[in-house]
Amino acid sequence: MELDLGPLLRGEVTRMDFSFSVEAPEIPDVVFPESVSVSGEVTDQGGYKRLRFGVELPYRAQCARCLADVEGVYTLDFERTVALRQNLTEEQLEDAELEYVIPENGKIDVDGEIRDEIVMCFPGRFLCTPDCPGLCPKCGKPLSSGLCTCASQDRIDPRMAVLAQLLEDDSGNGETKQ
Ligand SMILES: [Zn+2]
Ligand SMILES: [Zn+2]
Repeated sequence: MELDLGPLLRGEVTRMDFSFSVEAPEIPDVVFPESVSVSGEVTDQGGYKRLRFGVELPYRAQCARCLADVEGVYTLDFERTVALRQNLTEEQLEDAELEYVIPENGKIDVDGEIRDEIVMCFPGRFLCTPDCPGLCPKCGKPLSSGLCTCASQDRIDPRMAVLAQLLEDDSGNGETKQ
């Protein structure tokens, strides 16, 4: 999306609002079923021009522990300073990509900027629930699903029961007897 900041740069207005969509970025192991919804504004406060964007992006990912599907809407807010090339020092121009948005012929192309910001800030992993117990190391089923019976089998295994009894007796020997 190319935004025409002409009216603001010419001082005709001090605020312009935007609403548009941008193609979603590519992030490994994450699916974006829709494009990025962007809303924002650029304001001029006494010559200081500020650009703010709020993005909304539905996603589908996998729980890092149990691999269950995790769905949600990712939101992010970020800002940039709008500066004209002739007003920046050489040093500022070197950092320009991160700090400033520089209009060309009064226009800025923000798609790449928005995608880069999302890629940089997007969480590296998701959990289906904050305390997801993960997968059973024996059978590989999700421990939260109730499908894994490994633990209960252990409990009724007679050999295990005998061993548990021995351990219990053994631990009693340490007590002082009168
Ligand atoms: Zn999980
Ligand atoms: Zn199991």
